[in-house]
Amino acid sequence: MRTAIVGGGAAGFFLAINLKEMCPQMEVTIFEKAKKVLAKVEVSGGGRCNCTNSFEGVTDLQQVYPRGHRLLKRLFKTFDYHDAYQWFEDHGVRLVTQDDHCVFPASQDAHTIINLFLAEARRMGIEVRTQCRIETLEALKDYDFIALTTGGGTAALAGIPTTEPVPSLFTFSIADEALHALMGTVVEDATAWIPGTKLKATGPLLITHWGMSGPAILKLSSHAARELHDHHYQMPLAVNWTGLKEPEIQQALRDIMAQHPQKQIATIRPLGLPSRLWEYLVQKTLGERAQNRWQNLNQKELNRLTNALCNDQYQIAGRAAFKDEFVTCGGISLDAINPNTLQAKALPQLYFAGEVLDIDGVTGGFNFQAAWTTAYVVSMAINQQACCSRSPSEE
Ligand SMILES: Cc1cc2nc3c(=O)[nH]c(=O)nc-3n(C[C@H](O)[C@H](O)[C@H](O)COP(=O)(O)OP(=O)(O)OC[C@H]3O[C@@H](n4cnc5c(N)ncnc54)[C@H](O)[C@@H]3O)c2cc1C
Repeated sequence: MRTAIVGGGAAGFFLAINLKEMCPQMEVTIFEKAKKVLAKVEVSGGGRCNCTNSFEGVTDLQQVYPRGHRLLKRLFKTFDYHDAYQWFEDHGVRLVTQDDHCVFPASQDAHTIINLFLAEARRMGIEVRTQCRIETLEALKDYDFIALTTGGGTAALAGIPTTEPVPSLFTFSIADEALHALMGTVVEDATAWIPGTKLKATGPLLITHWGMSGPAILKLSSHAARELHDHHYQMPLAVNWTGLKEPEIQQALRDIMAQHPQKQIATIRPLGLPSRLWEYLVQKTLGERAQNRWQNLNQKELNRLTNALCNDQYQIAGRAAFKDEFVTCGGISLDAINPNTLQAKALPQLYFAGEVLDIDGVTGGFNFQAAWTTAYVVSMAINQQACCSRSPSEE
């Protein structure tokens, strides 16, 4: 029996190797349109490959998979991050988990993963055909099984219902020169949200020379990928710089008023806020009165400062890249596939794995984990289907 895998990326190789391990007699061929396979793995995680995550602190998969969390919850019963961790270690790749729960090869080098995949493919006789773009499924009609692992934005090939691919994981451009001057400033415990929606994310926020970045913004871009696309990346943005609620913030300001009445407002920063950011917020909120002392602050100004700390308003003016890392939101519609096997409902010998599916995660190794899980599930499903269709004499 023969399986064609279209796409020589993370999902394609993981699928091929597992299928061959489960079913050694299966002929497996990977078709890759580019000269080089595993190109994204090579550049992933800044060349270190953040290959999974310990999922510590993730109480609901929707936090890390804005799309596809329900399906992944089901599929993780078959192959989850513990299994992926174990798989790599069993195949000789030692992994390390960072304090932020991201998992990398101990070598800190993505080539460790690439070399493993290439060596396993060679050892098991998986054929890898590069510079071989598959234009239609018709071209693969001699194969018993076809798996599409073509990555983001490529789902059209299947002729199966798709949701429109749009970018995810990007940073926000904000037209505010005074903010840009704070570039490099990091606030560890920020919350960013799109006012008037439920789209919200927390975590470190980095101010850049074009606007805002950092985990909180990347997460928000992922959760809001479709809404932002539909609004041409022009939407309001609000930030709580403190991780605290309004009454706690106002109390912190009152405490400073009581302790440092003679000091200038901008010189005593509340709640451990970076001093440059505090100066910026005071200037933006109080204007000419920013030079005042704490004792001169009236109730209205106190309220406005509190608001600047917990509901600071901006306007997103566009999207900008994040170290070239982005994933595609959208792809093969999950309604069009069998949720247990990832098999096309309309075409039983056609399967999907990886980013071609309408599943995507935030940064932190979650996207590769989705690729490993979906690829593993497909390898099992093809193996099972092959076993069922194999005649007893072939056993
Ligand atoms: C710069 C960057 C850094 C990243 N870092 C991380 C990270 O550290 N951790 C993480 O979890 N995620 C990361 N990601 C996301 C992650 O790389 C992807 O989610 C993952 O690669 C998806 O794997 P895939 O196999 O589904 O798709 P891909 O890796 O995109 O592979 C698909 C392959 O299919 C080929 N192909 C497409 N169409 C055809 C066709 N018609 N015929 C033949 N071949 C075809 C493509 O050339 C490609 O090689 C990063 C992404 C980028 C861009």
